[in-house]
Amino acid sequence: MDINRDYIVTDRKKHGGPRKKAIRVLIPHHNAGVVSGQGLASYIKTTTRALSATYIIGQKGEVFQGLDESLEPYTTSNRAIDTEAITFEIANSKGAPNWEISNASFDALVELSIDICKRHGIKEVSYTGDKRGNIHLHKWYASTSCPGPYVESLMPEYARRINEGLKPKPTPKPEGDKMYKIQIGAYSVKANADKALKEAIAKGYKDAYIVDSGSVTKPSDPIKPAPKPVTKEYVQLSKEVTTGWRVYPLNKEPVVKNAIGSLQPHKFGGLEYEVLARPMTDLVTIQTRDWGKVNIYIGKETAHKIVRK
Ligand SMILES: [Zn+2]
Repeated sequence: MDINRDYIVTDRKKHGGPRKKAIRVLIPHHNAGVVSGQGLASYIKTTTRALSATYIIGQKGEVFQGLDESLEPYTTSNRAIDTEAITFEIANSKGAPNWEISNASFDALVELSIDICKRHGIKEVSYTGDKRGNIHLHKWYASTSCPGPYVESLMPEYARRINEGLKPKPTPKPEGDKMYKIQIGAYSVKANADKALKEAIAKGYKDAYIVDSGSVTKPSDPIKPAPKPVTKEYVQLSKEVTTGWRVYPLNKEPVVKNAIGSLQPHKFGGLEYEVLARPMTDLVTIQTRDWGKVNIYIGKETAHKIVRK
């Protein structure tokens, strides 16, 4: 709800200072005048009378804060009740004798009151027609007809609607052991499932997780052959090679002048590398410790073996 805070009273002569009791009571007043909400808020802010109200509500349902909630308003001509009350000054939509307020004003009053009760721990309100309840009327404290016959007649409805707004929303009961799960994707490659899970969690689905369903096949689907296990190719360089096995940068011709070093298979009892790529016939790309990714020549005449695992 939009609350205009431009007209908050700060003048110490117009309020009772910090409250002496916790907020417990709601007191709707009428202002006995058909004026705009802004006109009313502005009047209360600027009048030299010792007057304030926690909130001011206009005919269109516009809400102005008139005083900080922590301060005791001067609205009900009784400091003992105002010190524990939130007070509302509501502009009338019609004058004497009924002093009506608009539906929009009443709706705003209800919405605002629900919010106040929630914030101040008021679990329930009651209008009993006397001071036993926690919705009170100005006329119980001073010789005034405030809040007028119409607003007074609304009080049971006011209490009912606030309590409705304060009721916790019922949560549906679980149906026995049933669980409803939401599927957002199915992947045959684990890495893709991991990626999708990461994205889902990033979007706020904190409880998302991967279910490994094995090779589940829907009854209507044709049986698919199991995918072949992925094998990798490795090149093994014989330990008999004692002359060094030249390595070449990926972007250069594999000729002697371009070699940047050489592997020493004999020093390690032979060497084995995964074949990462085959850029040319008899040329393979491998990952080395000393030179990073390089190409090596594995012509027929060289002492090497290709194995798959
Ligand atoms: Zn009043």
